[in-house]
Amino acid sequence: RKNLIEVKNLKKHFKVGRNQILKAVDGISFNIREGETLGLVGESGCGKSTTGRTLIRLYEATDGDVIFDGMNIHKLNRKEMKNFAKQVQMIFQDPYASLNPRMTVGDIIGEGMDIHNIRKGKERTAKIYELLETVGLNREHASRFPHEFSGGQRQRIGIARALSIEPKFIVCDEPISALDVSIQAQVVNLLEDLQEKMGLTYLFIAHDLSMVKHISDRIAVMYLGAIMEITTSKHLYEEPLHPYTQALLSAIPIPDPDIERSRNRIILEGDVPSPINPPEGCKFQKRCKYAKDICREKAPELREVKPDHFVACHLVK
Ligand code: SF4
Ligand code: MG
Repeated sequence: RKNLIEVKNLKKHFKVGRNQILKAVDGISFNIREGETLGLVGESGCGKSTTGRTLIRLYEATDGDVIFDGMNIHKLNRKEMKNFAKQVQMIFQDPYASLNPRMTVGDIIGEGMDIHNIRKGKERTAKIYELLETVGLNREHASRFPHEFSGGQRQRIGIARALSIEPKFIVCDEPISALDVSIQAQVVNLLEDLQEKMGLTYLFIAHDLSMVKHISDRIAVMYLGAIMEITTSKHLYEEPLHPYTQALLSAIPIPDPDIERSRNRIILEGDVPSPINPPEGCKFQKRCKYAKDICREKAPELREVKPDHFVACHLVK
């Protein structure tokens, strides 16, 4: 499959305080293929959401390139920018905070069409009804307000809103983390059905590996603004190569018959260091039980160690 998005040495730094720099995303490179779901996993504060937002230009990159369908998104003229903005959307973690409580569901879903001047009048209304049905709600819901719906229903409204402009690529930023476990699978199934029907490409962000397993074709593991490992979902679960991935997997609490249980549980010592003064060399060194001198001196490159399996660790040959 061809790449829809190519990310090259992307950095997003934020100034904090007087002269400190928070390196939220610190030089990451990866591709997202057309029609796939790339899972992006890591502990909170590791730069996942910042990555997602920078890919669709909700944030300007500090350095590096994002190539979307052959266009460098940080070098677009106004017309190209408008065209790009129609092709990308975001679904947010909190279905309570992300819907305007004063707008009807119909207007929430129709807003994107209004902004991009896509449909008006009857066509707009018909599209809103169609989208409500597509996400498992119904047309009577168009005149109601967000507070009348459950968390799962609100996330369906958020999904309908994202679909209204018929995007190619959607950043799903922890779309199931705030939902009851019983509802999570329904939302994941809906996203999968929509992907198949509409040929969508997803970046699916989550803070734990159990949430991305079923929906992802490939998974990238992030730590302190860097990508530690990226490979197919199958390889990541069956043969994790990076010490951090191994620790994350061993921490999944629910017994999972697909994961080899012979591995011992690895306890991660300490907290994630601050992205304000990240360590030199490997960013995982402070919590890695295999750390050697070279890990403190030199940052490991993300290398393809097996077909379609990339790892950033000096010890993985
Ligand atoms: Fe651990 Fe060194 Fe590999 Fe980093 S490069 S994960 S510190 S062994
Ligand atoms: Mg986040």
